[in-house]
Parts: sequence; C-alpha cells; structure tokens
Amino acid sequence: MTDQPGADIPRVVVDGHVGQVDATLVPRFAGPPTFARLPRLDEVSSADIVIVGVPFDSGVSYRPGARFGPAHIRASSKLLRPYNPAAGIAPFAQLQVADAGDIAVNPFDMTEAIGHIEAGARNLTRDGVRLLTLGGDHTIALPLLRVAASHHGPVAVLHFDAHLDTWDTYFGASYTHGTPFRRASEEGLIDRGHSVHVGIRGPLYAASDLADDSVLGFQVITCPEVESTGVTRLVERMHARLGGRPVYVSLDIDVLDPAHAPGTGTPEAGGLSARELLAVLRSLSTVTLVGADIVEVAPAYDHAEITGIAAAHAAFELVSAMAAAR
Ligand code: MN
Ligand code: MN
Repeated sequence: MTDQPGADIPRVVVDGHVGQVDATLVPRFAGPPTFARLPRLDEVSSADIVIVGVPFDSGVSYRPGARFGPAHIRASSKLLRPYNPAAGIAPFAQLQVADAGDIAVNPFDMTEAIGHIEAGARNLTRDGVRLLTLGGDHTIALPLLRVAASHHGPVAVLHFDAHLDTWDTYFGASYTHGTPFRRASEEGLIDRGHSVHVGIRGPLYAASDLADDSVLGFQVITCPEVESTGVTRLVERMHARLGGRPVYVSLDIDVLDPAHAPGTGTPEAGGLSARELLAVLRSLSTVTLVGADIVEVAPAYDHAEITGIAAAHAAFELVSAMAAAR
C-alpha cells in the first residue's frame, strides 16, 4: 500500500529527519495527502516545524470558501521538491517538519472557534515547535498571535495583504477576517514599534483608516510604492521596520494580484506577482521567524491550482527561511 500513510512508505531520511515520500519510488501524484508529502506529526518522534490547517471561514465578509484552503494548499504542494536552490538549503533535511492535520472548529460559534484555535495552537507549540498554519480566513490570525505572544512577548507582525485588517467592527461584529490586527493590537500581542503591512492597495472606507492603523502600531508599504521603488527597496524598508525583533508572518494570499491568486475571498487589482512575493519571503532567512500563517485561499475561485501553488511555494519559502535561520 502506498496510498495510505504508514511505515511501509519509502521516505527520504537525512540526519534522522524524516522527510518527504521518496518521489523516485512513489510518483508525486500518489502518496499521502500531507503538506509536501511530509510525514504526519504522529509518524515522527518530535518536530521542529509543524504544518497545521485551520479550515474555518465563518469570518469572511465577501466570497466564502477559505474553509477548503488547507486541503487545497496541501494538494497543490505535492510537486514541491526537497532542495531550495535560491536559498541554498534543503529545509526538510535540516529540520523535522511534519503535518499535524487540521484543527477542526465550530463553524457557527465564532467565540468558541477562536478559543479552540488558540488551544490547538498552544498545544502544538509546546517544546518550542514553530507553527506554519494554513487557513482558513484571516480571523484565525488573532488566536495564533495570542499563542505566539504568549511564548515570545509582543511580536513584530509582518503582514502581507491587500487590506489593512485593522477595521473595528463589521455589522457590529468584533471578530471577523477584517479586524484581527486591531484586536491583536488592543490585546497587546503585537510590537507596535516594529510591525508592518506589505502590499496594501485598493479603495479604503476613508483616509482615517490609515490614521487609525498607524495608531494601532503598523507601518504601511503599499503596492504602488513597490511599483515605483522595486522589491530591493521594499525588502530594505521591511527589514528596517522589523528591527531584528522576533517576527510573526501573516500572509493573506490576496496580497498577490488576482492574476497570480484568483482563488481568494476579496480580490483587489494591482497586487504583487508570485515572483515578487517569493523574493521577499526569501529575505526572511536573516530574521527570527517565530511562526507564520497563510490564509484566504478559497479554491472554488481558483483555476488550474494557480492560487494553491502560489500558497504552497510561499509555505516552502517560509519553512526554508526558518531552517536557514535556526
Ligand atoms: Mn486581504
Ligand atoms: Mn486579510
């Protein structure tokens, strides 16, 4: 049997790190449905980085469907090979990376869901494990930041998104995918001197949105600025703002242009290309990455896995950066 996870599946093992299913023996379109065909968490004795899904989209304001994001990103990750030539690193050989499956939560009770995501993430991050979470809508960043801040203190949030996600309420609701970073700032989870949004664009409600956002502790690097000054300058500004602090990355896939990520809930024209995003993520090998999430992948609007593949490659760069900087 090679279609079921288990000890009989041939895997690449380097320095005791159990890696991907051996693609010379099991073709990439076969094998287990874990991220990058890595082992499940219960198939390894311990892990340095855990991939976990949060199939939750009850916080969306427009197109629903990100609850199917984790499975889609995993399916789109089957072609990831073990060596990252741009980073010069084989992350699955350097660290033990494993897939913990999904944190399944109540789709009808926001408060209970946020609590369960927090509890699940706290349980997985015992013993210094770093989490790479696959969403799900952006609501899930709040409980994930609660856990990151409980381990590291207020973290420098590096937030990739078309949107600020620092609005106050929506239809009277405080917990939505457009409000997690205001709640996180109010709860003291973010380092207000070192957090930054990258890729902001599109119409806002009013100019005051930006003024409010600044008070909450974020600097903004917009997409039009990236266009005029280029990725190199973006990376310089981003790192200057992060200031060498522990960094939590929250990556809304809608930071990419809809041409590069059509499968998302609130698309905005004029975004980053996948190539630009991957270059920016690669620069994170010099920072202390304490955790990351990739959210808002909604496969019902995807075509030919464009969005899923972009998310899978972003995840691979984030894991590579964590491995390079360990
Ligand atoms: Mn967004
Ligand atoms: Mn968002």
